[in-house]
Amino acid sequence: MREIEALPLLTTVVGSYPTSGLPPRRAIQRAVEEQIAAGIELISDGQPRGDMVGVFAGRIPGFRHAPDGVWEVTDALDLPDAPLLGNDYTFARGLAGGRAEVKGVVTGPITLALSSRVAPGAPYTGPADPALILRLAELLGHEVAALVAAGARVVQIDEPLLSAALGGAISAELAHDALRDLAALPAFPVLHVCGDVRAIAEELLILPFAALDIENTRIANLAAFDPDQLDFATLTLSVGVVDTQDAAVESVSAIRDRIQAALERIEPERLWLSPDCGLHALPPDAARAKLAHLAEAVTKPACIPRPVRAGDASRVARRRRLSQTRSAFPPIGQNGEVWNRIASARPTSTRSSQRPHQPRRWKRPCGAVACATTWPSNSARPAGSAGTASA
Ligand SMILES: [Zn+2]
Repeated sequence: MREIEALPLLTTVVGSYPTSGLPPRRAIQRAVEEQIAAGIELISDGQPRGDMVGVFAGRIPGFRHAPDGVWEVTDALDLPDAPLLGNDYTFARGLAGGRAEVKGVVTGPITLALSSRVAPGAPYTGPADPALILRLAELLGHEVAALVAAGARVVQIDEPLLSAALGGAISAELAHDALRDLAALPAFPVLHVCGDVRAIAEELLILPFAALDIENTRIANLAAFDPDQLDFATLTLSVGVVDTQDAAVESVSAIRDRIQAALERIEPERLWLSPDCGLHALPPDAARAKLAHLAEAVTKPACIPRPVRAGDASRVARRRRLSQTRSAFPPIGQNGEVWNRIASARPTSTRSSQRPHQPRRWKRPCGAVACATTWPSNSARPAGSAGTASA
């Protein structure tokens, strides 16, 4: 029986970090340094440019910030003049200098659409109009491509509203169509969903991501996943083991208890550990301490042995077989050790090299990772954006 610190558990964050008031570059610097100092292996740039909707809606032509504070779609959405986050990613990656892997984070098209309002006269019927969501997916695909071109091997799509919308305002088919091309671009695509996902656990498992990030300290989301479906999906689960709604810093042993409970449901090779959600609302001292305790929980010698994982013999054997089918990537560039651990958890069936070279709805041949190095010029934009998005 191995102790927790002997397991290949990877620590990460969801994205935001409490740096409010600092200019973006200084905010990124603080977020990167403090996440690394805490011992987190897969970090973010801290998302220093405001709320997750405004940072994109504020730059996409066709949105306006209405007087009541709501982002309103007033026209056919168009491509911004330049990528929104690529420079921040490059800056963060340079600061990390190989001490941690840096992931890119992009707000998902469903959350962006459902957080907005469609003005009379705009060429969409409402926030849940598939034409609007698919057009946003297309535009955000360029953003993901820019992050990949900047070196991001892990890109997370944030869809906090999916937990409430999937199966209601948003069908599983539409979610799959909207997210598939975004997930096809990075080497290791991650989906983060906030809140209670117990009723949509099955649908989330079939979305084409290599990892799914969920909260789990206040809501027993992980327990709602069917063990057989979890095995079949083969994706990594990034499980919240740090409460982000309470500034009280939980003890290392409390976090270890949550980790051990997660290990009852999924093997360590497919388990990442993270806070429940972004840290931006926490006092900076609490955020730092929570991350340090998270890292300590997987690195310090344990007093508590890991319990025997639940499941019958055939399931354990199946997990072992699945594990053996995953081949490790060679180290790439800096921080090869962490990246190797990430890449080795990539489900074989969804590796980007086995995907179609060009995403289905992209209007110019720049979709694949290897050639996604330039932002489309204005002349290359698809004409009639609303109409083409629904094609
Ligand atoms: Zn969240």
